[in-house]
Amino acid sequence: MLSFDPGPEMAAELERVRVLGREFLRPLGIEADLTGEAIPAAHPFFQKAWELGIGRLGPDDREGREVGNSGERTAARRGVLVAEELAYWDRGAAVALPGPGLGAPPVRRMGTPEQQERFLGRFRDPSRPRWGAFAMTEPAAGSDVAGIRTSARRDGEGWVLSGAKTFISNAIRADWIVVWATVDPAAGRAGHRAFVVERGTPGLEDMRAEHKMGLIAYESASFTLRDCRVPSANLLGGEDHYRARAGFKGAMESFNATRPMIAVMAVGIARAAYDAARAFAREHYVLARPLPRHQRITAKLARMARKIEVARLLCWRAATLADVEQPNQIEASMAKAFAPAAAQEVTSLALEILGEAGVRQDRYVEKLYRDVKAMDIVEGTGQIQRIVIARRLVGYPAAS
Ligand SMILES: Cc1cc2nc3c(=O)[nH]c(=O)nc-3n(C[C@H](O)[C@H](O)[C@H](O)COP(=O)(O)OP(=O)(O)OC[C@H]3O[C@@H](n4cnc5c(N)ncnc54)[C@H](O)[C@@H]3O)c2cc1C
Repeated sequence: MLSFDPGPEMAAELERVRVLGREFLRPLGIEADLTGEAIPAAHPFFQKAWELGIGRLGPDDREGREVGNSGERTAARRGVLVAEELAYWDRGAAVALPGPGLGAPPVRRMGTPEQQERFLGRFRDPSRPRWGAFAMTEPAAGSDVAGIRTSARRDGEGWVLSGAKTFISNAIRADWIVVWATVDPAAGRAGHRAFVVERGTPGLEDMRAEHKMGLIAYESASFTLRDCRVPSANLLGGEDHYRARAGFKGAMESFNATRPMIAVMAVGIARAAYDAARAFAREHYVLARPLPRHQRITAKLARMARKIEVARLLCWRAATLADVEQPNQIEASMAKAFAPAAAQEVTSLALEILGEAGVRQDRYVEKLYRDVKAMDIVEGTGQIQRIVIARRLVGYPAAS
């Protein structure tokens, strides 16, 4: 079942990602890290990437499915292969790439055909790069997704949203943001609704970038919704969708689809750190003196390689299950709990191998060490994943 032979087409795609990564993503990620500024939306690289089709949806992408020559669905497996490679070159610059991003899964899974066309169709337009965003987190509700307080109040033909969101990737440059709100805080998850809020909507205010320790190449934005009026047509799935109590399920399904991709990005960062440490060790230790004298170094490298391999396999398993449309919640959570923690250890060991050179900015590894922490936080922290796994293992019902 765990077949990851990419095949010639996928191998060619990965090679294109490698070229993109070497020539653009890594240099732009380093530049952003040094200047402390995200890559500007108007950067010519984004226009060029868009023209090449990067992030742009093709005619069949509306369904979010890709079927290989064998008739098998392969989108999730292709996704993890590309995500690891992108993150290897620079995870921050990769997230800055145009496209609907995390906003796409809820539109695909919950949106009506008309909404899918209206919000995703524009991502097929080759004229200029576009971004989408996904806004769940609030200043007082991160892990406890059910505790969001952004309110949605029906008013005539539309809805009025009030509240605040924080740390939303690419929100400043997004054409639209999928905003999660509640019609009844006492109802918990059953009260959740997802609205697509278009850029420029009155009441979408105070948009500002947060300063973060790593992944500087893309903006994490906070904003306020002040009596922000949204048409009924922008309620994802329409009211019928929520009468079926599918709102929270929709959000969670989005996470199950994207968690293996986030987890495998940690693998990509870890692999970059491992490569840097191995090159350094070969240059400074192994070639200079016999290998056995440096067991402490080589044992670290072996540990790093093992952790990377195990983490990658967990991500692949979760993605494979997604492709064959089997439940993958526990596997996605295992991947997400394991891979970022493993990647944090790997980047830390890489720093140790480099010694004092490791903390020098021009060595790149210290940047990876700062970049990798966010992978443990986003899309459900490591602690939350462990809770999800434990609930399943002891047979508690899944959150509903
Ligand atoms: C770089 C970056 C990009 C992001 N992008 C987005 C985005 O695009 N859209 C979006 O909606 N959000 C985004 N987020 C927000 C992210 O999803 C939240 O930070 C995350 O869900 C954790 O929430 P929190 O930060 O409020 O931490 P809290 O929920 O306040 O948790 C704080 C700590 O307590 C732990 N904890 C919480 N509850 C428990 C528990 N029950 N048992 C044990 N430990 C617990 C957590 O693991 C964590 O270590 C982003 C965050 C970052 C850092």
